[in-house]
Amino acid sequence: MAKLMAPGGTRRMAFSVLEAGADTVYVGVRGWSRRGSDTELTDGEVQDLCKAARAQGKHVRVVLNTMPSSAEVPLLLKKVDMYAGWGVTGFMISDIGSMVQVRSHFPDITIHVSVGAGLSNALEVKFYHELGASVVILPYRMGIEDVRAIKRSLDVGLEVFLFRTENLDGIVCPGKCTMSSYFSSNRWIDNEGKDYFYGSANRGGDCLRVCQVGWEATADDRDIDGKFGLKGNPRLWLQELSDYIQAGVDYFKVPGRDRSDELVRDIVCFYRKVVDDLQAFPADEVTAHYVPELQELKKRWASERRQRDDRLVTRAKE
Ligand code: SF4
Repeated sequence: MAKLMAPGGTRRMAFSVLEAGADTVYVGVRGWSRRGSDTELTDGEVQDLCKAARAQGKHVRVVLNTMPSSAEVPLLLKKVDMYAGWGVTGFMISDIGSMVQVRSHFPDITIHVSVGAGLSNALEVKFYHELGASVVILPYRMGIEDVRAIKRSLDVGLEVFLFRTENLDGIVCPGKCTMSSYFSSNRWIDNEGKDYFYGSANRGGDCLRVCQVGWEATADDRDIDGKFGLKGNPRLWLQELSDYIQAGVDYFKVPGRDRSDELVRDIVCFYRKVVDDLQAFPADEVTAHYVPELQELKKRWASERRQRDDRLVTRAKE
């Protein structure tokens, strides 16, 4: 049965998505996920969440998908040890070396290959599976045919985002992008020894989303007409969900760590109903029935995105 994986961008969001029907909640922890600290939890909050999830028979995943320096790897492994002791049952990791270390220290833990690993094709999925990964999170430009082909040839878990661009395009590859780093050089080290680079998602200092603003270009002193974006604008989706369930996707991932608690809770409620219905009655009529509700959620998503982009622009200028 496909499971619903939902974000816990705040303590309140993390608890409410479990109540709303998520099977598993994923949370970033300060400095170690590809998002800013305003969408990450403290260690104390993770510990409380583990207790609540266990009481409901649900799971917590911790996102550790920055690229650690050699000096930070022992700290990362110490944190994995601590979180696993509190009942965290899996981790989302990008760094290959850390992945191998976590697998050798914790043979039974679930390891998700983060989308931050920047994988592009089925051969890379095979590579990570051989390294010991349990689940691979597919970038949204890999579609249903990729899922079917991977499931036919490998016994690996697959996780698919519930948002994607309309035509599965993607000029920029998540995890292999360093554009944002060029717009900021603010750096600091916390009291545990974690090194932060503001503006670099890969190093745990958040990303300024420079791919999503309109760019103006000049070539040979000549302006090129119009503004263009470097990356598509992903949206929540429904069409083909039944096919993905039939193809054996293990986790559907709700996005939105940086959205409001209320919107994310409502998205989880929505997809809980849809996934349960489609698992019981795989049919296009079921999908069609949910389209109006999805449109409303998409409008709220777009409105919050505009507010978030305004905040990012303000922060980038500071
Ligand atoms: S600039 Fe865009 S593509 Fe690059 S890391 Fe940030 S969100 Fe991802």
